[in-house]
Amino acid sequence: MNKEFEEIFSKLTITEKNVVRDNNIATPIALLPLLLNRVSTENVEELASLLKQSVLPSICSEIDDEIEELFEKIDKNANLLFEKEIQEKIQEFIEKRFERDKQVVIQRTSDISKFVTLMGEFLNDAITSNGFSSKNVLDIKEKIQSIDLSKDGIKELSILQTELIDAAALIEVEMNTVTNKLQSGKTKVQELEEKVSTLENELTKSKNESRKDHLTGLLTRRAYNDEIKKIESSYKRHNTQYAVVFFDLDYFKKVNDTYGHECGDVVLSTFAKILEKNTRDHDIVGRYGGEEFVAIVHYNLNRELLQYLKRIKTIVTTNKFLYKEHAIGVTFSAGVATRADHKSYDSTIQKADMLLYEAKENGRNQIKLEDGKII
Ligand code: GH3
Ligand code: MG
Ligand code: MG
Repeated sequence: MNKEFEEIFSKLTITEKNVVRDNNIATPIALLPLLLNRVSTENVEELASLLKQSVLPSICSEIDDEIEELFEKIDKNANLLFEKEIQEKIQEFIEKRFERDKQVVIQRTSDISKFVTLMGEFLNDAITSNGFSSKNVLDIKEKIQSIDLSKDGIKELSILQTELIDAAALIEVEMNTVTNKLQSGKTKVQELEEKVSTLENELTKSKNESRKDHLTGLLTRRAYNDEIKKIESSYKRHNTQYAVVFFDLDYFKKVNDTYGHECGDVVLSTFAKILEKNTRDHDIVGRYGGEEFVAIVHYNLNRELLQYLKRIKTIVTTNKFLYKEHAIGVTFSAGVATRADHKSYDSTIQKADMLLYEAKENGRNQIKLEDGKII
C-alpha cells in the first residue's frame, strides 16, 4: 500500500475497508466504484428536508425556533446529520412532536365532546319543554348519543363532523316545521277568539233582549227587580230621592172584550210608549203584570214629581188610543209612594200598591199620593 492510498484508506468507513480487503483493492482508481456508492450531498440535503418535515408537528401549528435553527445549520452542512449530537437532538424533536400532536388531538376531542353534550342537552330541553316527540328530533338525539368519542383517530373525527352537520341540517328542518305549526296554530287561536267574541256579543244581546218585555219593550218584572237593587244602593250611598209609581189601566178587561185581545195589546204597548218617552235616563219603568206598570222616578223637589205625574195623566186622557178604525179613550189609576217616607223599598212599593187600590176604590182615573193629594 503506498502512502497516498494509505491516507485515503484511513478515511474510509469500516464497511468500505472490509470491501477493500475482500476485493484486494490497492489503487485509488480501483477505489472509485466503491466511493461512487457513497450518498451524495444532494441526497443528504433531500433527506434533511424530509427529516425536518417529520420533526415538525403536523396538527399543532406552533413552529419551534429551535427546530428552525437546527435545520438552518443542516442546510448549510448536510454532513452534520451524521454527528451523534445532532442525531440525538433530532431524536428528541421527534419525541416532542408526538407529544404535542397527541395533546392537540386530546384537546379537540374534549372540545367536540363538550359540544355534543351541549347539543344533547339542548335537544332534551326542546323535547321536554315543547312536549313534542317528533320522530326527527328523537332520531337526531339518538344519533348524537351514539357518537363514540373514545376512538380519536382522524378518520373518526371526520365521520363525527359529517354526523354533526347532518344533525344540524335535520334540526333546521325540524325548527322550520315547528315554526310553521306554531304559525298555523296562531291563526286557529285567532279564529277561535273571533268566534268566542261573536258568541259573547250574541249572548249579551239575547241577555238584554230577555230583560225586555216582548210586547211593550219595557223592563220585565225580573229585570226591573235587578235595577231596583242598584237604585236602592245608590239611595243608601248618595241619598238619591225617588218615588215608586204603580199604574193600572182602568176597566181594561172591557177593552179586550169590546175590541178584541189584539186591540188590548195595542193599547198596552201605546201606554208603555207614553211611559217610556217620559222617563229620563236614570229613571226606570217596567211591566209589572198584565196591565200593571211600575215606574221609579228620581226627583229633588216635590214639584218635579207632580209635574211628571200630571204630564202622563194629561197625555193619556186628552188623547185617544187608535186601533184600526177605533179611537179608544183610556184612563188609568196610580198610587205614588216616596222612598224617603219608608224604611225600605218593599214597604214603599206596598204603600204605592195600596194607594193604587184606594184610587180604584175612589172611582178610578186618578193618581193618589201619600199626603192624600189626588191628581
Ligand atoms: P180595573 O179597573 O179594576 O183594573 O179593571 P180591569 O178590567 O182593568 O182589571 P182586571 O184585573 O179585571 O182585568 C185585567 C185584564 O187584562 C184581564 C186580562 O185578560 C187582561 N190582560 C192581561 N194581560 C194582557 C195582555 O198582554 N194583552 C191583552 N190584550 N190583555 C191582557
Ligand atoms: Mg190589574
Ligand atoms: Mg186594570
